[in-house]
Amino acid sequence: MVAQGQATLRRPLVLVLGGLDPSGAGLQADIETCFALGCHALPIATGLTIQNMRGLQRVIPVSGTDLMEQIEVLLTDAGPVAACKIGMLPSEESALCVGRALAKLPAGLPVILDPVMTASAGGTLMAPALTDCLPQELLVRTTLIKPNLREAIRLTGADSAEEAAAKLSGEPPLPMYALVTGGDTPHAGNVRHLLYKRGLYFTEFSSPHVEGLFHGTGCTLSSAIAAGCALGMSPESAVGMALKYTCGGVHHAFSIGGAQSIPDRRWFWKGEFP
Ligand code: PLP
Repeated sequence: MVAQGQATLRRPLVLVLGGLDPSGAGLQADIETCFALGCHALPIATGLTIQNMRGLQRVIPVSGTDLMEQIEVLLTDAGPVAACKIGMLPSEESALCVGRALAKLPAGLPVILDPVMTASAGGTLMAPALTDCLPQELLVRTTLIKPNLREAIRLTGADSAEEAAAKLSGEPPLPMYALVTGGDTPHAGNVRHLLYKRGLYFTEFSSPHVEGLFHGTGCTLSSAIAAGCALGMSPESAVGMALKYTCGGVHHAFSIGGAQSIPDRRWFWKGEFP
């Protein structure tokens, strides 16, 4: 017999590695998104950020040793992990450590890499050396890389979203999928997101452009893709679900002060779909 209060139900675990942002992006966005979508986030801090809704003051990276210790201690007890999402990588060491940690997880684990370079209110989050070249140890374990257009062009030197997506996905050691989002460059009324698989065009998605400044939309999207994969969806289906989910959150965004709004990550609990 099970004692009263003893947990018997399990929910998919999503390992989320990123920065703590007290103004609501980064790990907070990851935890809220995983929770809203029926998963449980296992958050590992790659760094602290000192910021508010108006701007980033400073990033304090967690050392490689401390990062590894967080992961090892957590994973010796929790598990099995059903998907992983990687956000802010504030040092080369953090990228290498995350790659090393992923190598110890089962092959085939869906890993979503959001190569976030700048805070939504401005300011550098990613180590400058990584913006030109992400380490192979990390890419080889990545299933889907999700840069916005600016990040994709910075990482590849490409001239277009298509060329960047083709360069970012491929056969190992490249990630199988690249989703290049157009949120930072809206066209008249709509935003286009390109999904490439193994270096080839797979499909594209369009979402309505919503006027305003939002904080943590990229984190929400990439965590939602990871949560979808953890729930058993294919990466392609998880991207479609995650885009709808993130758009809904943006439509219902709320303000906590400053210039940017925060997507409501449990918007659909109100029972409506925009
Ligand atoms: N990660 C951290 C720690 C951040 O502070 C931010 C934004 O400030 C992001 C990621 C990316 O935010 P967004 O989802 O708005 O691109």
